[in-house]
Amino acid sequence: MKTTTQEIDNALSPHGGELIDRIVTDREKATELVNNCVGVLRIRGQAAREIINIAYGFFTPLKGFMNRKDLESVCKNMTLADGLVWSLPIVLDLPESAVEQTGAKPGDYVLLEYHNIPFAVMKVDDIYTFDINYMVSCIYKKENVDHPGIKQMHSLDNYFMGGDIWLINLPVFQEPYRRFFYTPAELRDKFKRRRWNRVLAYHSNTVPHMGHEWLMKACWFQHKANAILVSCTVGSKRIGECIDENVLLAHQELLESGYFKENVYMTSMFLWDTRYAGPREAVLHAIVRKNMGCTGHIFGKNYARPEEYGNAWESHFAFRHLPDLGVESVMSKEWYYCEHCGGITYSSFCNHKGGQEPFQSKNVCSLLGAGVRPPDHLLRKEVFDTVIGASDEYGFKDGYVTDEYLQRRNPIFILERF
Ligand SMILES: [Zn+2]
Repeated sequence: MKTTTQEIDNALSPHGGELIDRIVTDREKATELVNNCVGVLRIRGQAAREIINIAYGFFTPLKGFMNRKDLESVCKNMTLADGLVWSLPIVLDLPESAVEQTGAKPGDYVLLEYHNIPFAVMKVDDIYTFDINYMVSCIYKKENVDHPGIKQMHSLDNYFMGGDIWLINLPVFQEPYRRFFYTPAELRDKFKRRRWNRVLAYHSNTVPHMGHEWLMKACWFQHKANAILVSCTVGSKRIGECIDENVLLAHQELLESGYFKENVYMTSMFLWDTRYAGPREAVLHAIVRKNMGCTGHIFGKNYARPEEYGNAWESHFAFRHLPDLGVESVMSKEWYYCEHCGGITYSSFCNHKGGQEPFQSKNVCSLLGAGVRPPDHLLRKEVFDTVIGASDEYGFKDGYVTDEYLQRRNPIFILERF
């Protein structure tokens, strides 16, 4: 991996220095942008979620979808064309017919519609094709047609449109997401008011079992943090994963039932369609959480499926080869229950032979799936109750993603008529 020419300061500043804001709230200005457009493109869910991330500054310093120069550099060097570290493609892919239909050329403005409602405007900088096999080989190192991230990458359309965007129609978040969606600017403001100078990000896409709880607690000490920001990924899901609503509400339950105090813990969400890209994904997550105002990021074992890269701790080690990103990678080994220790312990301490019960999200999941309450040393009772309630309300009686959930889940956000 190449080191970058551009060093990043280690202060609380966003990646690249300044938080990006591409929100247009002035209706007159928004209408003017729309009137300049030469055509309309209909975008899908992932692109819509990524537009929100760009516009609110989660993806700072990106101001839009990548042009060829940036995409090439991300694949080859893990940096943007200007040398700033960036690890994953953020692209708008389109079928050739859609590109032809707009008739757009570089320099033109196009309207991006979501569910047939005006959502954003893009100033087209570049329209290009890209070798997907090359992209896969750079990001995932090897080909594996069964890998969900690689599969997703191979399903991209053949044309890409790069250029800066403006969000002209703000998303209206629905329940229960509404109370967990904070923009990076809002989070930074909250941290400041609470005097949280050191905030540790904890990424989650599962219901927290006791191992997760201890992981957060130990890393809080390790990072000398003021607080933990739980940042749950919300977006497209695969069958068998925890439903988004459960992940958010279960983390919030740890606060509400008193396992964490309000002055050290906060639950939030980040719109993200997982790429399962191991170290590449870890670096992107660290950058996004830095943009949110965090000073550290927890990376446990097997973070973002690093098995393609050969080492269960690869996501943590990814940072060794990079310039200082201003966000500490906090590594924690394994937490488990040991009957000899008589409680939860850590792999660096317990030397017993046998009697250990590792926490596996899968085991907890299958118990929850069957409606069986796992033992107290695996899952908090209050978390179990919350999950059962939320599964009834949002998951069609299932806590885990089913076909029905994929087809009929409540929208994360809606758009009002423009
Ligand atoms: Zn033990």
